[in-house]
Amino acid sequence: MAIKEKEASVSSAEWQVLRVVWANPETTSQGVYESLKDEYGWKLSTVKTLLHRLRDKGVIAVTQVGRVFHYIATVDELAFNEEQIRVLLLKSCRRKNGAILKRLISDERIALSKPDIEDLIETLKAQLPDAPDELGCNCIPGQCTCGLHHHREVS
Ligand SMILES: [Zn+2]
Repeated sequence: MAIKEKEASVSSAEWQVLRVVWANPETTSQGVYESLKDEYGWKLSTVKTLLHRLRDKGVIAVTQVGRVFHYIATVDELAFNEEQIRVLLLKSCRRKNGAILKRLISDERIALSKPDIEDLIETLKAQLPDAPDELGCNCIPGQCTCGLHHHREVS
């Protein structure tokens, strides 16, 4: 079964705009511009283009009050971010996801607090009793070197 990308994929530039919309519901193109112009050097027209793309992708909605357009996100921030990471992990062999996650949580740039770590430990402990001893490969033959693609399962 092919992996479906349920959520729209957004570019890095669109993502920066979307973050402002998440943080400032009902914001305007001017508001987004003010937030990002120093960091990215974008013109107002660039911000408007990015907002239009996000609207076309269905991740933000527009309401017009007088002559001013207001923008609000139609996707939940945490759920959206989670989905982007999930889509990436589902593109990898599931036998490699443990190693990828380990590298991610070991990355100093992905900072975790003590409560975050304790929460992750509890979550993993709860999964341990029911976890399989080994995972079958879910790859299309030719996309993976683990040699176990005959165990491919539909998930
Ligand atoms: Zn594989």
